[in-house]
Amino acid sequence: MKVRILGCSGGIGGRHLRTTSMLVDNDILIDAGTGVADLSLDELATIDHVFLTHSHLDHIASLPLLIDSVGDLRANPVTVHATAATLDIIGRHIFNWVIWPDFRVIPSREQPLMQYRTIALGQSVRLGERTITVLPAEHTVPAVGYQLDSGAASLVFTGDTTVNAAFWPVINRIANLRYLLIETAFPNSERSLPRSPNTCARACWQRS
Ligand SMILES: [Zn+2]
Repeated sequence: MKVRILGCSGGIGGRHLRTTSMLVDNDILIDAGTGVADLSLDELATIDHVFLTHSHLDHIASLPLLIDSVGDLRANPVTVHATAATLDIIGRHIFNWVIWPDFRVIPSREQPLMQYRTIALGQSVRLGERTITVLPAEHTVPAVGYQLDSGAASLVFTGDTTVNAAFWPVINRIANLRYLLIETAFPNSERSLPRSPNTCARACWQRS
């Protein structure tokens, strides 16, 4: 399993700022921030699955355009995996025919460009040799993290989160954990900011 960080910032601008997204091998995205836009059209067209941690714009900004861009290049729909709460939010606020079309019925309900798959805390999705498990997160909107397990080793991605007591017992039970990516966007002096409903936690990741 190969993981490529496409973006790990909370904003855009300059050569290095792109918002959160990871490409797993060549067919899975974890979040779909602006870093996705660096991929070629051929690379975009090979993405079969998108797993969302939550609905904030810095984590989904490229998703609407991704679906639109690869529509003519793919035979199967792109599957968007997220919790029921997150799918409800992006359905009501993004794919609502006002901001962007609902690609679950384009070009037809029988052969759409996009489909939703609801995932729940603790659930594992197996894709080939890889298993993706939904982990708890604490954010200003419904949010989750993910464990990516290749079979040989695991990488855990917290997603945007604040202090989360439920997270650590789960992580400590992962026998093959090798990488842990934790949001470290705010220093303690700004600890109230990520809890504000008007603030999206800026993503900044630290491998430890
Ligand atoms: Zn967020």
